[in-house]
Amino acid sequence: MSHADSSATDGALAAIAAAIADPQHPAKTEVASFAATELAQGDRVGDELASRFAVDDWRRCADRGLLAVMVPTEFGGAGADWATTLLTLEGLGLGCRDEGLAFAIGSQILSTQEVLVRFGTNEQRDRWLGPLIGGEAFGAFCMTEPETGSDAYAHAATALRNDDGTYTLNGHKAYITLGSVADVAVVFAKTNPDAGAWGVSAFLVPLDAPGFERRPNRDKMGMRTTPFCDFVFHDVVLPHTALIGREGSGASIFNSIIEVERAFVFATQVGSMERQLNEAIAYAITREQGGQPIAGYQAVAHQLVDMKRQHETARLFLYRAALAHASGTDFPMAAALGKLVGAETGIAAAMSSVEVHGAKGYVTEFEVERGLRDAVGGLVYSGTSAIQKNIIARLLGL
Ligand SMILES: Cc1cc2nc3c(=O)[nH]c(=O)nc-3n(C[C@H](O)[C@H](O)[C@H](O)COP(=O)(O)OP(=O)(O)OC[C@H]3O[C@@H](n4cnc5c(N)ncnc54)[C@H](O)[C@@H]3O)c2cc1C
Repeated sequence: MSHADSSATDGALAAIAAAIADPQHPAKTEVASFAATELAQGDRVGDELASRFAVDDWRRCADRGLLAVMVPTEFGGAGADWATTLLTLEGLGLGCRDEGLAFAIGSQILSTQEVLVRFGTNEQRDRWLGPLIGGEAFGAFCMTEPETGSDAYAHAATALRNDDGTYTLNGHKAYITLGSVADVAVVFAKTNPDAGAWGVSAFLVPLDAPGFERRPNRDKMGMRTTPFCDFVFHDVVLPHTALIGREGSGASIFNSIIEVERAFVFATQVGSMERQLNEAIAYAITREQGGQPIAGYQAVAHQLVDMKRQHETARLFLYRAALAHASGTDFPMAAALGKLVGAETGIAAAMSSVEVHGAKGYVTEFEVERGLRDAVGGLVYSGTSAIQKNIIARLLGL
């Protein structure tokens, strides 16, 4: 490692240590305050706003520079380091009750934009990064299919090369975050169906291409404000310039992106866990039963203590993954552990919040139960908890 590389690593490690050490870090609290005051945040089940994507809020976040945070300055972004990016996402989750919006923003930053930044051609970046970070276009990332989720490389989508160098894309991609509004998608398809993972390539597909079919928005248990649907590609002809990286490099692009997503996807949820803890404490102090605040009952206080422990655990695993990423040491293990722990702690803390709030925790109008519904998807997206355990077992040599 050169001297410049080693001092850059030292700087990144110091910034992450500062983020861990200061729970009131300004990079977090300033975004939280913006989100709490500027974003509208509706989601009620049964309400006509249910499942509605808050496009105005998305644009406010873009105007504030949140989508550009990690994009290098030469591509029009803010060029922030991972510490600042995670603090920004944490602040968004802390201030914004609309976890669907926060999740979708994190998803676009960590998947579609990250693919373009790290693997895109200059032409692809010039065409799409500006509109994506400016909030004028939405990006999707498409691997899952109806018949293949965890077994990702068994997917059926193909993009076969034609004699003139173009590719013809056919396939069905499922459960795509931001799918209902996306203008462009990173799509993984087999250019050599007989070569397994080595036959997978990645393409950047504009979604006005002839033969593209967007299926209706899918309603779901939580994060109802994240637009989410299936895509079907019927003989979509792509120019050679749609290829991302080399033909056959799709699996390595996917692996490298999904590892980062796995490590950092819970950044907004860590912020949300802090908000849920603050709200549960405030409620326990003011709600009286038996002539005293319920916080005075040890049973309730211990639940709040558990929520605190769960939040701190998720936060530490998140920044532990950032340390591993910056130092280049043990990142696959840190990423899988972070994903596993983030999913478990997010659900456990949201469940405690429901219980501390009693009936108000269960009734939809107070939006406490929303935190629990929003957390459950964490068991599934970016690789299920069982898949994280498989990765950890493999890394342990089992
Ligand atoms: C909110 C949300 C957003 C999403 N966004 C996107 C997106 O933007 N783009 C995209 O491509 N996909 C997206 N997905 C899809 C997601 O990646 C898949 O749902 C996930 O990979 C699991 O695949 P599956 O649903 O087919 O479940 P399956 O793979 O069928 O798994 C079903 C069950 O079997 C278990 N299982 C499967 N294989 C194994 C194994 N080898 N060992 C042990 N247990 C196993 C799983 O853990 C799970 O419990 C999203 C999903 C959700 C919920």
